[in-house]
Amino acid sequence: MTKQNKEWAIGIDLGTTYSCIAVWKEQQYRVEIIHNDQGNRITPSCVSFTENQRLIGDAAKNLSSINPTNTVFDVKRLIGRKFSDPVIENDLRLWPFKVIADSDDKPMIVVSYKGKEKRISPVEISSMILTKMREIAESYLESGVKNVVVTVPAYFNDSQRRATKDAATIAGFDVKRIINEPTAAALAYGLENKGNCDGERNIFIFDLGGGTFDVSILRMKDDVFEVKAIAGDTHLGGEDLDNRMLNYCVEEFKRKNKVDISANPKALRRLRTACERAKRTLSYAVDTTIEVDALSGGIDFHSSMTRTRFEELNMDLFRKCMETVDRCVVLVGGSSRIPKVQQLLQDYFKGKDLCKSINPDEAVAHGAAVQAAILSDGIKYFPELVLLDVTPLSLGISANGDLMSVVIPRNTIIPVEKKRGFVRSADFQSSVLIEVYEGERTRASDNNLLGSFRFYGSPNALRGHPLTVCFSIDANGILSVTAEEKSSGRIDSIIITNDKGRLSTQQVMRMMEEAEKYKAEDQEYKKKVQAISALEDFVYKIRKAVEDVDNIFKLDTQDKTKINVAIAEARKLLGASKETETGVLVDHLREMKSLIEPIMRIN
Ligand code: ADP
Ligand code: MG
Repeated sequence: MTKQNKEWAIGIDLGTTYSCIAVWKEQQYRVEIIHNDQGNRITPSCVSFTENQRLIGDAAKNLSSINPTNTVFDVKRLIGRKFSDPVIENDLRLWPFKVIADSDDKPMIVVSYKGKEKRISPVEISSMILTKMREIAESYLESGVKNVVVTVPAYFNDSQRRATKDAATIAGFDVKRIINEPTAAALAYGLENKGNCDGERNIFIFDLGGGTFDVSILRMKDDVFEVKAIAGDTHLGGEDLDNRMLNYCVEEFKRKNKVDISANPKALRRLRTACERAKRTLSYAVDTTIEVDALSGGIDFHSSMTRTRFEELNMDLFRKCMETVDRCVVLVGGSSRIPKVQQLLQDYFKGKDLCKSINPDEAVAHGAAVQAAILSDGIKYFPELVLLDVTPLSLGISANGDLMSVVIPRNTIIPVEKKRGFVRSADFQSSVLIEVYEGERTRASDNNLLGSFRFYGSPNALRGHPLTVCFSIDANGILSVTAEEKSSGRIDSIIITNDKGRLSTQQVMRMMEEAEKYKAEDQEYKKKVQAISALEDFVYKIRKAVEDVDNIFKLDTQDKTKINVAIAEARKLLGASKETETGVLVDHLREMKSLIEPIMRIN
């Protein structure tokens, strides 16, 4: 099988803080986690914009301290939400980058890129991260990748799922399915532990990540996964643990040196990075040191940190994580590596073994790749497991005033299509307003309005006249609603409008074009940097060569002048390299080479 023609089955865990990409290796019959260009198996979900370029992943995260207002992270908290959503109110205050509302109340991130203000939607930022993930896979597999399964938290609603799918489409993927993160994690284990999985089984997934904590109970029965319950904390994760250690170190620095760095963002960020590293070390060592040179006013920071001290600092947060559950626990999320967290869980489950043979920050991507392989027939000996996800919230329309009339109850296995009859509430209505909601509240208006449309049926119909509404959800959890009137034969198939952060096809197309533009700009920048360094390199070599030649025999004055003029011109171009076009730099290098090569040899 040639690699070029192969359709890889790819899974991506698009995390709030880190993303991970995995591929199903058919020949080895296993999943492989793909490392990025830095050799890391997880990549920060972070994009940074500078005067010259756009950076994604590790390079972007490294800039967060020197370029805080233009380094964007945490967009998963924004995707598919409205700006006025109370859930993000606090985040908006704390993020170092600016977020504003557009005319549709959609959040837009404002950054300065190449000296200009740019407004970028959360979907576009996510698509940039996904593009990076695609490039990571493509360079590793040495071929294009297209088919992907992307994971989302189980609590993501329709709009958040759709926005995630849009982001992947913009990034050039063909999205085979959007699945729930806990389902993916369970799937990762389902494959590994297939032998001991018979009958009905409850799985508790404990996912303590960078900024969020999710627990879910899945029931696996007849090879179907159902999300039975979800709970968690949207603001509890590894970053909170880092904060605790950071505060501790700030206090220690103050006590020892009488210097308060709490208002010095750069020092704080450097110290935070050191704390995060120490935290990771403490998952396998019992003590470590935190060191930052010249933290403030030339004073170095040096402190030791034991696992016990770390546990004391965070005990209340760890306790917060413990929840009631059943039988089996699968550990997910980088922060679930922390021994104290594992011990508390194990105590809670009276010594029951924790499933942790798969790296917790990779399990979700792992499972997504398995799902991708199942969808692409890659897993031939594992066909009996049909994976199904369920609707996270009930879906329905408002009827009889403001009553939520459920068409598809929550936890219904998807894809699904359900019809429900309704009746007109008044005589001679020229049209009926159909409002589609998601949620569990009795009053429709207390739920989430997904969209609305007018159905124009028979204008002579009286109160009680029947009407059928059909809800259909595809395998990605995306909903479309149709209304039908038998008497008039009218069918209005409606597309739920754009009022909850959804994108129209045109918008997706435009963003795909923009993504191409960004890519071209990134490449252009790379070419320019290469041209600059090639020219700098050549000038350096000529100068060395001229010195060497001068040491042995004198250069012809005319040649020397020519060389000096060329060097001066090169210096001028390099000095103004920001304004100089790449082509000019490349041309000058070529000219210099053809001028100098007849005079002397440059190696
Ligand atoms: P996400 O929340 O984006 O899904 P992850 O599941 O990858 O993120 O978890 C990231 C968090 O896990 C970070 O806060 C990181 O510091 C933490 N982490 C990663 N490895 C370890 C480790 N060995 N010990 C403790 N924490 C870790
Ligand atoms: Mg995660």
